[in-house]
Amino acid sequence: MNIVFIASEASPLAKTGGLADVVGALPRALMNAGHHVTVILPFYRRELYKNNIVATALDQSVEMWADGVQRHCPLHEVRLNGLRYLLIEQDDLFNREGVYGPAGGAYEDNLLRFVLFDRVALEVGANLGEPIDVLHCHDWQTGLIPLLLKTQYQHHANIAGAKTVYTIHNLAYQGVFPVLWLHRLGLPSHHFHLGGLEFHGQINCMKAGIAYADAITTVSPTYAREILTPEYGCQLEGFLHHHVERLSGIVNGLDVEHWDPENDVVIKENYGASNMAGKAVCKIDLQQHCGFSVAEDIPVLSIISRLADQKGIDLLISNVGRWMARGYQLAVLGSGDLHSEHVLSSLAAEHGGNMYFYRGFDEALARRIYAGSDIFLMPSRFEPCGLGQLMAMRYGTVPVVRSTGGLCDTVVDYPSGKQQGTGFHFADAHPDAFDAAVESAVDAFRNPTAWSRIRTRAVKRDSTWESSAQAYVQCYESLID
Ligand code: ADP
Repeated sequence: MNIVFIASEASPLAKTGGLADVVGALPRALMNAGHHVTVILPFYRRELYKNNIVATALDQSVEMWADGVQRHCPLHEVRLNGLRYLLIEQDDLFNREGVYGPAGGAYEDNLLRFVLFDRVALEVGANLGEPIDVLHCHDWQTGLIPLLLKTQYQHHANIAGAKTVYTIHNLAYQGVFPVLWLHRLGLPSHHFHLGGLEFHGQINCMKAGIAYADAITTVSPTYAREILTPEYGCQLEGFLHHHVERLSGIVNGLDVEHWDPENDVVIKENYGASNMAGKAVCKIDLQQHCGFSVAEDIPVLSIISRLADQKGIDLLISNVGRWMARGYQLAVLGSGDLHSEHVLSSLAAEHGGNMYFYRGFDEALARRIYAGSDIFLMPSRFEPCGLGQLMAMRYGTVPVVRSTGGLCDTVVDYPSGKQQGTGFHFADAHPDAFDAAVESAVDAFRNPTAWSRIRTRAVKRDSTWESSAQAYVQCYESLID
């Protein structure tokens, strides 16, 4: 099949979260399965520079009207491991601080930015030279593509017959904008109704993706069920029910070559399932880096996360006092909401020597934390799939997770199934329930035989993309048939 991914981020070019991990790895898994895949992204000049990615300027560009301005959009190309990325340049829109906004916020003209990107991406797709079988779109930034394709791009022979797949990576970010943009951006206004892109009098890009894509997927089977309920549906549960025959859940894999403790060049010493000795060296490295006392028998807890309500950071904060009183060590890496950043900084100052907080986004530090800690915390209120727990397990760090979404589907609770357990679950989004699960994990940590079994199972867990990529292929094929 000839498959085109259109997305707003992809690792290692530009990353704010799990979406980038997926768009960075799934196309390669599809390519390895024999398909032809191209990935189209915005040209984030400063992110590429930061990530040491060199793009080649192509002798091609697209002219596009948007909001009363004719824009000239040059194209760039990156080739990585045999995969082709086409990048759309528009420096005043994409060469900014942050992918979606400064310091985790959102730019006011985000709809302009991504509608322009969507339209140019469709033009680029139409001119790739071969008819496209599948256009795979992701999250609200590309939610309008199925509608644009069906209404305004039918004259392009190479793209008119493409099937669209829309993947919801996080239903909480829907891309809702004032209706005035409808006319300013020339969106098909006859689709601004209850069954289309209208949402309480505003434009909702995610709703448009759900309404017009040929197939809708989300990133785990449990989340696919959860979003049909008022608790997780973010006010779209009724609408999703209406389209439920086209909805399925396919759990994310992990780029196991990029995240591999046996070959990771950042961590202090490499290790793997058959020889975990290097992990102890990585723990010492982390303890030293964080200013903790170096001791093998002290459990090092960690969290690497966007600091957002979704991630249950309040549950973490509520427990810091008691974990410090018990002598545990805690390493936190994250950025996001200013209140959480402030509270975590104060707690780290108060408990210096046992708690460390680094505010920012830093993949190298993330790797050292995944490798050097014992227990990884994911107290998420909801979690479509979650990549952090997959990375933690791959690095032999046992996850404590709230049983929701993809965390249910990827981490096996040790207390409920001792022979298969790879981590610890808790159900209530309450600090006491979270603490009880951490205590179970610490008890297991203090039993070297049990701990080594849990850890080995976690490292050996098959998180490769192969079976999930196969599920996407089946989804694509069912549309083409
Ligand atoms: P989400 O996409 O909701 O943020 P996921 O667990 O799906 O959460 O993916 C998060 C990804 O971002 C993981 O690869 C994680 O390692 C990475 N990450 C999150 N915060 C940071 C940070 N501050 N520094 C480096 N990597 C981070």
